Amino acid sequence: MTGTAYFAGGTLALVGVTLVRNDLPHPILMALISLGCMIIGAFLYLRVRLLTIRAYSILVAAGTVIIASSVYLVGPSNQAVNVATLLMFPMVGAFFSFSWATALCHMVFIEFCAATAFIAQGRPDSDVLILQGAMLGVGLAVGWLTRAAAASKKDSLTGLANRRWFDERLRDLIGDAKAGDPPMSIVFMDFDRFKQINDTIGHAEGDRVLMAAADAWTKIVPPGCLLARPGGDEFAMILPGYSANRAAEIADVMRESILHETTCSAGVAELRLDDSKAMLMARADVALYEAKSRGGNLTCQHGVVNTEGAEAIHAGLAAGEFEVYYQPIIDLRFGLVTGDEALIRWNDPTRGLVPPNDFIPLAEANGAIHALGAWILREACRGTAEYIKATGVPRRISVNASGHELKRLDYAQRVADVLAETGLDPSSLVIEVTESTFDADHPNVIAMLAELREQGIDIAIDDFGTGYSSLSRLHNIPANVLKIDRSFVSAIPEDGAEVPVLRSIVALAEALGLRIIAEGVETVHQAQVLADLGCSHAQGYHFGRPNPVQQANTKSWHVHAA
Ligand code: C2E
Ligand code: CA
Ligand code: CA
Repeated sequence: MTGTAYFAGGTLALVGVTLVRNDLPHPILMALISLGCMIIGAFLYLRVRLLTIRAYSILVAAGTVIIASSVYLVGPSNQAVNVATLLMFPMVGAFFSFSWATALCHMVFIEFCAATAFIAQGRPDSDVLILQGAMLGVGLAVGWLTRAAAASKKDSLTGLANRRWFDERLRDLIGDAKAGDPPMSIVFMDFDRFKQINDTIGHAEGDRVLMAAADAWTKIVPPGCLLARPGGDEFAMILPGYSANRAAEIADVMRESILHETTCSAGVAELRLDDSKAMLMARADVALYEAKSRGGNLTCQHGVVNTEGAEAIHAGLAAGEFEVYYQPIIDLRFGLVTGDEALIRWNDPTRGLVPPNDFIPLAEANGAIHALGAWILREACRGTAEYIKATGVPRRISVNASGHELKRLDYAQRVADVLAETGLDPSSLVIEVTESTFDADHPNVIAMLAELREQGIDIAIDDFGTGYSSLSRLHNIPANVLKIDRSFVSAIPEDGAEVPVLRSIVALAEALGLRIIAEGVETVHQAQVLADLGCSHAQGYHFGRPNPVQQANTKSWHVHAA
């Protein structure tokens, strides 16, 4: 800008000098000064990338002195007033670039130089005042407009917060979190290969991708959190009250919601007590870099070795080390097996048969749960469709879904695809969800379950009674099956009657129109007590252990005590 001002001012002056050279007392000197300004301008423009504020200040003051001296040299003719208008350049420059205080110092200096030159020429006060007033007005207007534009806190493309707003909020919220309101996390998100998107489909389309993401994400960002677009294809989010794990879950939901032809990566960092704002941001940056360097389309948390175990699970899937075990579910009213629960097993060559509780939580933490869940769903549906075809007898299959899977926006679609692919009827599939592992208040999860129900798939609430089950929550979850946790069943005394709470649960399920499955039935006595209570279905070692093949109905279970 300084270069342009010097060059434009010099050029204007040179043109002026050429036009009125006969009226000027020192035309050669004036032409040389103008030329000098043009050369300085061209040099600054071509050679200097960024000036320090001090160097810029000196150049503005020097420009003022050059113009004011020229005004004096031109003498008392009207041309001097023309030359004096060039003082607009340093005036505008000062108000555009400097703080109010520095700009006002320059203004005083410029007005002082102009007044000195005019007064030395013996001009009337009116000339001095008009010129000074005009310069002052232009300077203030430029200063005000520049500051208004810079003070905007919104990104013009997406309407999200811009970098300035993000920085200010982050500073405040770090202060709050440290003052006793931890945890708090930030997420940096960045589109994968965005430059390629821009280069191949054009900048307008690139902008459309960003706007669509901003639109989708605004709906996902939890209340009290701030989503910003600091620039380019970068987005940033502050989540006060959120641990890194929960922030990463939200980042995953956001990543899943963008246009299908694009992917993006996210880096999460949770505030530590000794973190400065810069350190927290640097840690989120490192996490984002890690996600990118691992191929993108991923969320990484700083300081969390998320890769641990994920490769092993993926390799195990590729090597066919996982197996589906089927545990029969009995209809107590008819004494027949009517379905199975699919329970995953890992046949690890070094560790032997690994139970799910040893690797499911790990898979949930490192993201492998999605691949694992998709695998068992397909295998269990395929196996059940084959069983039905071979025997001609209807059979249900219950598949456990992790809360992480339910948060993926396309989960219902994936399930529908698996049913279509394996030919299993939706009414034969039950998806089991454990209330404690999914966020029943999460609107996506509830909508996902409702979508599955609409497809004709049953939804079972697993381990009922162990979580923070409450009637009102139960009412919100679109489920039609209730699985009573085995702790209630094992509490049935071997020689006594039922525990009172069981009767209440059965009554509650009936009132809500839910089918009941009692879990962990290990003795004939327990089965009888449950049947007498009106419990329609049961599952447990008494009827059959999980087994690699479905148990046939070779035996009829007569469990009524009466
Ligand atoms: P869950 O869904 O509650 O599954 C029932 C568990 O109880 C199974 O343990 C089963 O073997 C065991 N069980 C069945 N009958 C009896 C009984 O009479 N007595 C006793 N003591 N236990 C019985 P398993 O197979 O070790 O699975 C443990 C948990 O791992 C499951 O609990 C489920 O939450 C999870 N899990 C298993 N397979 C999958 C899967 O494919 N995906 C997901 N996301 N989770 C799974
Ligand atoms: Ca289950
Ligand atoms: Ca269970």
